[in-house]
Amino acid sequence: MAEITIQNLVKTYPGQTERATDDVSLHVDDGEFMVLLGPSGCGKTTLLRMVAGLELPDAGSVHIGGRDVTYLPPNKRNLSMVFQSYAVFPHRRVRHNIGFGLAMAKVPKAEIEKKVAWAADLLQLGPYLDRYPAQLSGGQRQRVAVARAIVMDADVLLMDEPLSNLDALLRLGFRAELKRIVEQIGTTTLYVTHDQVEALSLGDRIAVMRTGQVAQLGRPIEVYDHPSDTFVGGFIGSPPMNFLDAMAHGGVDGGVDGGTITVGDAKLPAPGGLPDGPVRLGIRAEAISVVDAHTEGAVPAMVDVVEPLGAATLLTVRVGEQEVKVQVPPDVNVRNGQTVHLSLTPRAMRLYDAETGLGLD
Ligand code: ATP
Repeated sequence: MAEITIQNLVKTYPGQTERATDDVSLHVDDGEFMVLLGPSGCGKTTLLRMVAGLELPDAGSVHIGGRDVTYLPPNKRNLSMVFQSYAVFPHRRVRHNIGFGLAMAKVPKAEIEKKVAWAADLLQLGPYLDRYPAQLSGGQRQRVAVARAIVMDADVLLMDEPLSNLDALLRLGFRAELKRIVEQIGTTTLYVTHDQVEALSLGDRIAVMRTGQVAQLGRPIEVYDHPSDTFVGGFIGSPPMNFLDAMAHGGVDGGVDGGTITVGDAKLPAPGGLPDGPVRLGIRAEAISVVDAHTEGAVPAMVDVVEPLGAATLLTVRVGEQEVKVQVPPDVNVRNGQTVHLSLTPRAMRLYDAETGLGLD
């Protein structure tokens, strides 16, 4: 096992003007599961490929276990990779697919057999060891690719969207399995995905990327509860965080509890010391509840859409001209076109600069 240290990595592809990665620095602790998350084209794969040695940076460095590997070829970095495409050999049986890397490394046969049996057990591939990949489901083939990576005892494991070829149900099942396996083997892992649920579920920490840079780095709960800017809040969560135009009043003396926020006509308590003026108020759908019209600070809203989702009901409402998502228990009785009153949980409110979108608290 080993830590990964990425320092000031810059990469511009030939013929491009924008940097694919723009001065990225990131430290992955020994044994940590780090997720690179972000929208398409933000530079996740490029960053992973530079750690793998499949792409060379224009500037910056990559260290694995304290060793500078920036310009070493992939096979000299002691890492294992799993990619989106299953990349299994069609003409080899599952057991030979899993043991392929070990055989190439001239590991003794008995040792290979032991390791293949161990990985097959971990990935529940035991019954399929003598099949060919064509005789497996997509999910089973992907497990073969993971098994082949983990038998290598590499210092680090790199995975690029390993679940994205699976259908929704298989993905859900394999996600939990992957989490169990990675916790069990404890290898330092760098994992690329654009799926925020996958990131929240798997990562010890998540690096949220935007246009070649890390927008926020933190534990899943930190990134979810305290997005550093409106981009991160709008990317993480389903539905994404709501952002409401609001006015901050810092209070006469700027004291700790002297502030208020106005949303439409409603006045809500806010931390003091805020500069007076427009802000964006960020709040998650589940931190808003439907309350009695007389509740203090209740914000009136008009119900546009009611979506029963089973475990909860998702409302799309309008506060003035602004659309807001509200998650209520499934038994709350509301109809389209109805006026409701919303209560915003004060400790779940985040404030962002109206222009830059950067967090104010
Ligand atoms: P996705 O989730 O779609 O795979 P990503 O976040 O992994 O996206 P990258 O594949 O790293 O993003 O791409 C980052 C930027 O670099 C994009 O603008 C992309 O178009 C560009 N890019 C990637 N590979 C190449 C290449 N081989 N040549 C030129 N430009 C490239």
